Amino acid sequence: MIWNIPILINTFNKESKLLNVDNSLLTKKHRWEDIAAALGMGNLPAESYYLGRYFIFNDEQDIQKLEELLTIEIKYLAVMKEWQVGKVNLPAMATLICNELKIMTVCTYCEGLGFESDGEDCQRCKGYGWKSFSEREKYQFIGANYQAWHRRWQGRYMQLLNFIGDAAYVLRMHLNHQLY
Ligand SMILES: [Zn+2]
Repeated sequence: MIWNIPILINTFNKESKLLNVDNSLLTKKHRWEDIAAALGMGNLPAESYYLGRYFIFNDEQDIQKLEELLTIEIKYLAVMKEWQVGKVNLPAMATLICNELKIMTVCTYCEGLGFESDGEDCQRCKGYGWKSFSEREKYQFIGANYQAWHRRWQGRYMQLLNFIGDAAYVLRMHLNHQLY
């Protein structure tokens, strides 16, 4: 579900404040006021709500809320799965995800799939499906080294990305439901 994030970002046309829910063939557009109202309807989980607010308004406060929720999640995972945390900065992982959200774009080489026609990981995006920071930039940001990242932290980081990927999926379904 991770690939939903950059695809979802792509569905928001930030400049004109219009949402294209069907991002394959743009059939319908919504005013941002309608999207903002739709976010407040029903019982959208907090992480999906703030993710949506962030996409629409590009507001620092919303990204801060999202970062707080992600920090809670990563600390929860660390306790539940009994991680040896060492020098790694857990809240920095939440910050890193929010920073990634700001810059990630769908990989044009594999079109967001993360793999090539032979089934191997896409060379350009290393299997993520989007372009973002390098692995080195990521592990340095959280305070890990090359070995620790590849042995443990990359997978843990992916678990947190899954959490936000699920939130993006829920958000997308919610908007589809509310706007159509
Ligand atoms: Zn790719």
